[in-house]
Amino acid sequence: MYIEHQGNCESCFSSLLENIKRGPSCERVAVRVGVYSHVDKNISVPQRFDRALMACNSARSDLVSNLAFYDGKMHEAEVFNDRLLEDIDRALEQKQFKVYFQPKYEIRGDRPVLHGAEALVRWKHPEFGMVSPGIFVPLFEKNALILKLDRYVWREAIATEKKWKDEFGFALPVSINISRMDVYEAGLEKELMSIVRENDLLPEEVHLEITESAYTDDSTQIVDVVERLRKDGFKVEMDDFGAGYSSLNMLAAMPIDVLKLDMCFVRHICDNPKDLRLVKLMIDVAHDMAITTIAEGVETKDQCDLLRRSGCDAVQGYYFSKPLPPEEFAGLLEKESAARR
Ligand code: C2E
Ligand code: CA
Ligand code: CA
Repeated sequence: MYIEHQGNCESCFSSLLENIKRGPSCERVAVRVGVYSHVDKNISVPQRFDRALMACNSARSDLVSNLAFYDGKMHEAEVFNDRLLEDIDRALEQKQFKVYFQPKYEIRGDRPVLHGAEALVRWKHPEFGMVSPGIFVPLFEKNALILKLDRYVWREAIATEKKWKDEFGFALPVSINISRMDVYEAGLEKELMSIVRENDLLPEEVHLEITESAYTDDSTQIVDVVERLRKDGFKVEMDDFGAGYSSLNMLAAMPIDVLKLDMCFVRHICDNPKDLRLVKLMIDVAHDMAITTIAEGVETKDQCDLLRRSGCDAVQGYYFSKPLPPEEFAGLLEKESAARR
């Protein structure tokens, strides 16, 4: 609604709510309202609505009704996001994005064995310092800019893997993150294949992490894409399993190689027997389907031991290491190559 200024917007909201509740079977409808008041007349009407929507999205959804205002803090966040959107092209040109690597350890045997690494991007912004992907990835996912950034990361990550293969004599599979939007890009397989070939690696030596929520969007299309990628030789991991609305029967329909259990499960396995049982169940179901399992967000020895006893194949998390810049990660490879000799 675009309403002329009328002093008290709380009372306007209450009467709106009363009217809504009078509708047939509307007693239990939850209403959230976002307000952009003191309108800056220099900005367009759609932008004014965007600001109201931003406020609305910040309103708590667990209450029956809630009213939120676009405020100074939201304005700051908006200005910050606009800056990041403006800066991305220059940042790509100037290589401000840094690819870090977090090790993945197989825990089936007597000693944990380094068996992979996940490539995770960071932005070394000249003004804001290190910016975490948790801030800019969701922003770029809304604008399709993620397509550009992902390709940059894939190239960097795969070229680094090749460099390590030459230096240490073995290929450590690197996982790259594939955004939901990438899955719908025609030519995804060709693109990935050409990066792999340019670097003289095999597709088997590259893992693709696709977030669970992408699988629920349009399952027929994603099954198609994943099947083609696996036919080419890539290993596909279902990322963040259990964070969204996944169901175990989705596993049966999805042609994947690795199931990556979300950190929300791992967090409470030591003190919540139900979570532990759920993790065990998921590991068993995955194994029945010849899918291997990795748990992410493992922070303590107890969590790692419990996961090993539950049959989990591999772990990733701060217990072993946080994501590292490539120079530091090379130290782990050196140790691993000495242990293999
Ligand atoms: P993700 O793919 O689920 O990556 C795992 C995140 O968990 C990483 O956060 C990692 O640093 C963090 N993490 C690892 N071990 C632990 C632990 O023991 N405890 C806790 N609390 N956290 C741990 P990060 O690097 O901030 O990345 C956040 C998300 O941003 C990623 O979640 C991924 O969805 C996205 N992302 C990162 N790099 C890329 C990229 O190159 N492309 C795309 N499309 N997304 C990316
Ligand atoms: Ca991931
Ligand atoms: Ca994940």
